[in-house]
Amino acid sequence: MIDELHEEKLKDLEEKAVKARELVIETLVEAGSGHTAGPLGMTDIFVAFYFHILNHKPENPFWEERDRLVLSNGHICPIQYVTMAMAGYFPIAELKTLRKVNSRLQGHPHRSSLPGLETTSGPLGEGISQSIGMALAAKMDGKNHHIYCLTSDGEHQEGNTWEAMMMAPRYKLDNLCVVIDRNNIQIDGFTENVMPLEPLHDKYRAFNWHVIDVDGNNIHEFVDAVKQANSTHQQPTVIIAHTVPGKGVSFMENRFEWHGMPPDTSEVLGAPPKGEQAKKALLELKMIRETTKNQHK
Ligand SMILES: [Mg+2]
Repeated sequence: MIDELHEEKLKDLEEKAVKARELVIETLVEAGSGHTAGPLGMTDIFVAFYFHILNHKPENPFWEERDRLVLSNGHICPIQYVTMAMAGYFPIAELKTLRKVNSRLQGHPHRSSLPGLETTSGPLGEGISQSIGMALAAKMDGKNHHIYCLTSDGEHQEGNTWEAMMMAPRYKLDNLCVVIDRNNIQIDGFTENVMPLEPLHDKYRAFNWHVIDVDGNNIHEFVDAVKQANSTHQQPTVIIAHTVPGKGVSFMENRFEWHGMPPDTSEVLGAPPKGEQAKKALLELKMIRETTKNQHK
């Protein structure tokens, strides 16, 4: 059962989200490579999962009864690492090792390196199928934990995503909730230009899923959607989370150029010069942090 999201808790989550975005920027700058837009866009959802939704024990990542969080689009892992560190899976100082040789924090998640990761991911389109396996296994074993699969809109151009979409309703997997980061971008441009996905809602409906659309940058709305998913019977749920890629940094928002690039490594139209990008991003986030705190007083 997910706890009631009281006002005080919501304020705490919103402040954690700003902190997480700052850590994403700092971690990527230290790494010198990696993805920026997706992690910033999905920050509110990761904070909602690790600090409110998941039934988990960071000090005991292999706890059998834990909910499973599967990250299918592994390239947005900086935000998963940041929220896992903030939740206590490993020290925050370890974030500095992202993408370094022998680090547990690989550029794409490596399950056997870091306890708390449920899968190794990177090759796109695999997560829903893997989550179906976990959901079926839980049903067979009479377990009550939930399986949450985070996937991207770009991944819906992969054929095995659609095979998985057919299969989950076949087995009435009401313990499975898929969350799509509907940020409308992928590495080469806007999804609707590269390979149109719309009408995505209707497509899932036609495949017999329970479909919910939410503002993925609104923690309260997202938590409510997950509660609705968990109280749905005999049907898997997909939450189409409409997010702003690059959320929180004005010159990154809705710009596909930031899909696979960290701050300060390239000149981007409309952005500050190379050496100024991280500084400007952190300054903007600091202002958001102060505004958020003042609103919460
Ligand atoms: Mg996308």
